[in-house]
Amino acid sequence: MNSCIVCNEHKPAGIFICGQFLCADCERDIVATDVSDLRYRYYIDCMKKIWLAAIS
Ligand SMILES: [Zn+2]
Repeated sequence: MNSCIVCNEHKPAGIFICGQFLCADCERDIVATDVSDLRYRYYIDCMKKIWLAAIS
């Protein structure tokens, strides 16, 4: 099981982005979240962390 970069929970299903695990639940949430939703900013911040880790 992998530790999700967004919720930090260990989930059996998900995707890898730049070597970081994103669980299926969070992936679905991100896709369904409206850009005006505060959670969207949180998710974007998490994605930025993934990308920064990938290029450093
Ligand atoms: Zn998650």
